[in-house]
Amino acid sequence: MSLFTSLPKTDLHCHLDGSLRMETLCELADMQGIRLPALPGSAAYDSLEQYLQAFAITCSVMQTADAIARVAFELIEDAALDNVKHIEVRFCPTFLTEQGLSHDEVIEAALHGMGSASGKYGISTGLILCAMRNSPPTQSLAIAKLAITYRRRGVVALDLAGPEAGYPAKAHAESFREALRHGLHTTVHAGEGDGAESIRQALVDCGAQRIGHGVRVVESSELLDEVIKRQIPLEVCLSSNVQTGVVASMDNHPLRRLYDLGAKVTINTDNRLISHTTMSGELLLAHEHLGFSQAELTKLISNGADSAFLSASERLELHGALDVS
Ligand SMILES: [Zn+2]
Repeated sequence: MSLFTSLPKTDLHCHLDGSLRMETLCELADMQGIRLPALPGSAAYDSLEQYLQAFAITCSVMQTADAIARVAFELIEDAALDNVKHIEVRFCPTFLTEQGLSHDEVIEAALHGMGSASGKYGISTGLILCAMRNSPPTQSLAIAKLAITYRRRGVVALDLAGPEAGYPAKAHAESFREALRHGLHTTVHAGEGDGAESIRQALVDCGAQRIGHGVRVVESSELLDEVIKRQIPLEVCLSSNVQTGVVASMDNHPLRRLYDLGAKVTINTDNRLISHTTMSGELLLAHEHLGFSQAELTKLISNGADSAFLSASERLELHGALDVS
């Protein structure tokens, strides 16, 4: 077992519908008589928008409760076998209602699959529901209400995902207020397909407690200072950032600079299938391309535990499982 596999880890930013096993994608398509177009290779994306198109393929095979539960189970199983001790899985339930499932059926199937694997492998899990930037704010509010309904049954937070440029977060502010008012956590994808102003909106208008990606915070020294001072956790996903063109190359990824400046950076997969990665794979990249030592990788993982959407006692337990506190 490699060092990177043996290290206990967290993964706070992982999309259910981007993290199927390839063989499961093909098998589900076969079983349902769906002809799949070719999935782009890892170097084949040239923007966030193009990267997001791959989700239409994965979601096409996830339109039954059995398929959703299977994909959720396998994702948690894969994470556990990679020695991930806590994983937060996210998706937009609306994408899985195209063949008649209700939002409740979709969420319950995902929670069922996650719960079975969590019980089998002793891994801690949380579900995050994604509202979409390019959907009307009324739809975001409906997702926020679903998240509130399932708050004590495994849903821990509301997220905002989808194409970032041209779709400002502040349009969805009411959904986030509603989520916060009911004790849910909040995270917003920002500073990926758009710049510092987008991160500012996520923090100020939506009350985001964490930022998905957030790497373009380096474009504003003022905002960077603020994010460091407030220790806002950034959910960094190295492979994904290079594939979507957010950063020019792995060697130039701002994770190193953000870490050295004292930002609360965490390391995550984003999409295991679409980004062709795993948590140990992301740690290896940080080590090989950005010179992270084992002690520094341990600090990134510890930041993940500090930033997890858990209660204080659950967080303490997680730190114990990671043995990095
Ligand atoms: Zn994401």
